[in-house]
Amino acid sequence: MKTKIPFGDLLPQFKSYQQEYEDAALRVLRSGWYVLGQSVADFEEQFANYLGVKYAVGVANGLDALTMAFRTLQIGVGDEVIVQGNAYIACVMGVTINGATPVFVEPDEYHNLNPDLIEAKITKKTKAILVVHLYGQASRMDQIMAIAKKHDLKVVEDCAQSHGAKFNGQMTGTFGDISCFSFYPSKNLGAFGDGGALVTNNQTHAEHFKMLRNYGSRVRYYFEEVGFNSRLDEIQAALLSVKLKHLDELTAERETLANNYLSSIINKQVILPAVAPRASSVWHLFVVYVTGDRQKLIDYLNQYGIGTVIHYPQPPHLSQAYQYLAMHKGDLPLTEDYADHVLSLPIYNGMSKSQQDFVIKKLNEYK
Ligand SMILES: *Cc1c(COP(=O)(O)O)cnc(C)c1O
Repeated sequence: MKTKIPFGDLLPQFKSYQQEYEDAALRVLRSGWYVLGQSVADFEEQFANYLGVKYAVGVANGLDALTMAFRTLQIGVGDEVIVQGNAYIACVMGVTINGATPVFVEPDEYHNLNPDLIEAKITKKTKAILVVHLYGQASRMDQIMAIAKKHDLKVVEDCAQSHGAKFNGQMTGTFGDISCFSFYPSKNLGAFGDGGALVTNNQTHAEHFKMLRNYGSRVRYYFEEVGFNSRLDEIQAALLSVKLKHLDELTAERETLANNYLSSIINKQVILPAVAPRASSVWHLFVVYVTGDRQKLIDYLNQYGIGTVIHYPQPPHLSQAYQYLAMHKGDLPLTEDYADHVLSLPIYNGMSKSQQDFVIKKLNEYK
């Protein structure tokens, strides 16, 4: 049966601002300059202003941003980084590519790093806390920052899913030493290709990011450090500037969709997501907890053409990539329980009321 309601659809948000996007892309095409130029510099400034930080540096993707963040903080072999067990794999890779060891902490009921469980995991080797604002919801930054301060730890925020989310009225990405963003097309501030950014208030860090992204070069053809080729291109930057102007209205639309789900889905087998006091969510994903047989619900929805995705079916510590950490099923029971029960419902800019009503109706009829 043909899918009536896909899990996600990027076309409606393009069409909403189609003329602006096409004008921006054409301007770059006709400019004769395609990588690290004026459009990148302009976007970096606009994005820094939007967040309320001093510096934003565009890079090729979110994983590179994470990798460069830990490199800049000189966190590597022999060092430990605290991260939540249910993080996305890229968060963990950003740590391990540098040779550092991830130390997993169980999530809280909001699927974010549980601040109450951090201190028990701190050792002499702990250098940083990596905070992943998962599914679009800001983590409990008051507690996390207090712990970091007490133990003299760096804080890196992964905001790849949380563009514009706030804790206590303050933007995610402005609490830690360095914050990392992805502009992968399906992210809330998504480009039309790959992109990412590092943000910081530290000028030395910002200059280091600019050197790192361009082969470790500050002065053309002189290389200070073995760097990366991780540059943001002009077309993506110009398109991101267009989307950034509309980000707050796009977020408001997601909020409306999420609130509709929250007020209308009534089914004992479907536990709805909660938002922590003083936190906001930009609803990158709408993730429910299925108490019954998850696969049965997926198949049922699929039969009506409703797409769903699991974020994520296998936690990093159980993935083949991290076999060398020698962790096993049972080591992180809550993380593993979430992996077995979470399900993301369709939510995207341009999702119509009738599409959403159909999803709600089918969920409420499910037995
Ligand atoms: C998407 C994502 C990343 C990686 O970003 P890419 O641009 O795909 O490399 C990192 N962390 C989180 C939480 C993400 O959702």
